[in-house]
Amino acid sequence: MTIVDTPERRQLRELTRAFVTKEVLPYLDDWERAGEVPRSLHETAAKIGLLGIGFPESVGGSGGDLLDSILVTEEVIRSGGSSGLIAALFTHGIALPHMVASRDDGLIDRYVRPTLAGTMIGALAITEPDGGSDVAGIRTCARRDGDHYVVNGSKTYITSGVRSDFVTTAVCTDFPGSGSLSLLVIEKGTPGFTVGRRLEKLGWHCSDTAELSFVDVRVPVANRIGPEDTGFLAIMQQFATERLSLATQAYATAQRCVELATRWCRDRSTFGRPLASRQLVRHRLAEMHTRAEAARAYVHDVAERVAAGEPVVTEVAMAKNVAVAACDFVVDAALQLHGGFGYLRDAEVERHYRDARILGIGGGTTEIMNEIIAKGMGL
Ligand SMILES: Cc1cc2nc3c(=O)[nH]c(=O)nc-3n(C[C@H](O)[C@H](O)[C@H](O)COP(=O)(O)OP(=O)(O)OC[C@H]3O[C@@H](n4cnc5c(N)ncnc54)[C@H](O)[C@@H]3O)c2cc1C
Repeated sequence: MTIVDTPERRQLRELTRAFVTKEVLPYLDDWERAGEVPRSLHETAAKIGLLGIGFPESVGGSGGDLLDSILVTEEVIRSGGSSGLIAALFTHGIALPHMVASRDDGLIDRYVRPTLAGTMIGALAITEPDGGSDVAGIRTCARRDGDHYVVNGSKTYITSGVRSDFVTTAVCTDFPGSGSLSLLVIEKGTPGFTVGRRLEKLGWHCSDTAELSFVDVRVPVANRIGPEDTGFLAIMQQFATERLSLATQAYATAQRCVELATRWCRDRSTFGRPLASRQLVRHRLAEMHTRAEAARAYVHDVAERVAAGEPVVTEVAMAKNVAVAACDFVVDAALQLHGGFGYLRDAEVERHYRDARILGIGGGTTEIMNEIIAKGMGL
């Protein structure tokens, strides 16, 4: 099965492609060097309705569902954008859904609407220096003090953490590592909340990544998302969307690299003949294309089932692993087919090769996905 193509979705693809061509491609190299995308890009994307795709109009979104968000992600990358750009510009895809699901009008007005309007930037902070895979082991603690929580702890590897105005933060509301988690929205500028180092990375250069520190940070109880101790469930419920987004970034990166490598192999001649005329090269391209297409079809199938409300936790984990494996194979092969040029910053395929490596780590590693799959098998 594949995501049903409707006239609206064709329009959405065209809108996305035009946005990337005009607003992204001329500047992407500069943003990669600067280590972040400008705030104005969020406003531009919001104005044309792209930022709010997948969020209901009642909270300031543009409407559409998970499948529409997937199409946007797919088209951004296939138009020459990158998974790093998706991480930077669409961080709200992981920072806001818990607030929207809570139906808390106060939080929606203060954080969701301005973010979808492109005037605020949000981040999601779960991972800590002591570990990211073991979400229940979170040690950043929030102690209740009247109508505030007092937060102490630290977070790391936080996407858009340098630029964000607020951070949806997972905190422990009992003793550290107890698994009693809540989500608090913590605003930049709150005394005791500091952004530490801007972390330098292998890839995703246009996406800023930060360490965050909380020392006696007073956060109003009104900034808690949902009832106390429901954070773990809320995080797990939203993981499906994040994992499918990462899976989409993986197969779309693979598709883009197949396209780039195919073009290169048609144009590049060695020993007097185009590379694409050699059976070895043609078969390599065929295998790359097959793996990318199979991953796309499976991710679409699982996404349709998630959108229909089916409980497919295991399938989401399998979709992420299938797409990441396809992507890893394809980016490596695409770079190899480019020869020395593939290793240069001037080659688009070089950026995809570096950017792809995070996809099997973020949002739950390949090993953690295998744990989920094994549990689903009754093991
Ligand atoms: C660029 C980037 C952006 C990120 N953005 C965010 C963000 O916005 N918000 C956020 O909260 N986090 C973010 N992360 C963190 C990311 O989600 C974590 O790095 C990831 O979940 C893994 O956690 P960890 O790094 O602590 O590794 P660990 O949990 O320490 O794991 C280390 C290794 O051990 C393996 N492993 C762990 N447990 C098991 C097990 N039980 N069985 C077998 N193998 C196991 C893992 O698969 C991994 O290979 C980001 C990370 C990066 C690099």
